[in-house]
Amino acid sequence: MINTPAYAALNATTPLSPYTIERRENGPHDVLIHIKYCGICHSDIHQARNEWGTSNFPMVPGHEIVGTVAKIGTHVTKWKVGDIVGVGCFVDSCRECEACRDGEEQFCEEGMSVTYNGFERDKSTPTYGGYSTQITVNEDYILRIPAGMAMERVAPLLCAGITTYSPLKRLGVKTGHKVAILGLGGLGHMGVKIAKAMGATVTVLSHSPDKLDDALALGADDFLATCDSNVFKVHAKCFDVILDTVSALHDYNAYLGLLKRDSTMVLMGMADPIPLSAASLARQRRTLTGSLIGGIRENQEMLDFCAAHSILADVEVIPIQKVNEAYERILNSDVRYRFVIDMASLKSCR
Ligand code: NAP
Ligand code: ZN
Ligand code: ZN
Repeated sequence: MINTPAYAALNATTPLSPYTIERRENGPHDVLIHIKYCGICHSDIHQARNEWGTSNFPMVPGHEIVGTVAKIGTHVTKWKVGDIVGVGCFVDSCRECEACRDGEEQFCEEGMSVTYNGFERDKSTPTYGGYSTQITVNEDYILRIPAGMAMERVAPLLCAGITTYSPLKRLGVKTGHKVAILGLGGLGHMGVKIAKAMGATVTVLSHSPDKLDDALALGADDFLATCDSNVFKVHAKCFDVILDTVSALHDYNAYLGLLKRDSTMVLMGMADPIPLSAASLARQRRTLTGSLIGGIRENQEMLDFCAAHSILADVEVIPIQKVNEAYERILNSDVRYRFVIDMASLKSCR
């Protein structure tokens, strides 16, 4: 086993603190990755605070991991020492079920092995995430980071990027489509960039009016402050797609009213329960759906798409000692637009 410095939540109520975990030695198909950067996703906070009621402690969060290959197992063919690689939201799956065979491992019928707060395939060894200096991952669950992408700015693509790319791609967003991005945080700002690159006209819907300039600088064509109730009248039946990235409870019905006939709102935020009115859907035959990250193949496609369109996240790089402060700022919608931990800060406090 390999002793590995990390930061962990020991329970749902105390701040994250230094903690040591053990990584397994490489098996024949494993790769040891030295982690350089890890993004902070709002899901890290939901889980560190047990807001979904599914948390196991101690927990080392982090599923937006970028680093370099340090060592490869004897049978590894896909990677070599020194490669710059990424690890996203899961590190294994059954590989045999219909979902896995379709490349939609996130829906594995046996349950994917999520990168943290989950279990390896033996269903008993806990998984620990990217707030740590190194990770051992099976070679099939690693992504290639295209050349020239800044490591700290590419890390958030491994969750925020794929989570917004996947539904935009599936819905066939293209030139002529009007896409609204609801919530301008980590997911939202990636949604703006990716929808724009797909050719859409993009509007940001935000409860933070001071994000107007940022939204336009990120590439949005329009910005609507949702605190103005007129927005819901003036822009009724306006959009082809709404990507809803809001992390807190909100009124879905109001936003559904902004969709055109036969159009779709995609839920990505994880806040239940939802007070939903059937009429919001039946009128204009609207669709309300959800989306969950993306499979390995689609993750690679997303990274290559972002490289081709020069898309990276806007990040604030922090030392790991500031992670608890960053959590508070995220909860106050004060993130511009993803915190990314520089893992050198963890090594230096050993
Ligand atoms: P984030 O950076 O905190 O962004 C969420 C944004 O939602 C905020 O910046 C804010 O934007 C808006 N918001 C927050 N509280 C609000 C409130 N009370 N009312 C209205 N708007 C509010 O979070 P994130 O990392 O992008 O994640 C967003 C959500 O997606 C989280 O729930 C996360 O767990 C979930 N998620 C889901 C998936 C998936 O696969 N489905 C993957 C990753 C994350 P404005 O200031 O612009 O209003
Ligand atoms: Zn995430
Ligand atoms: Zn499977």
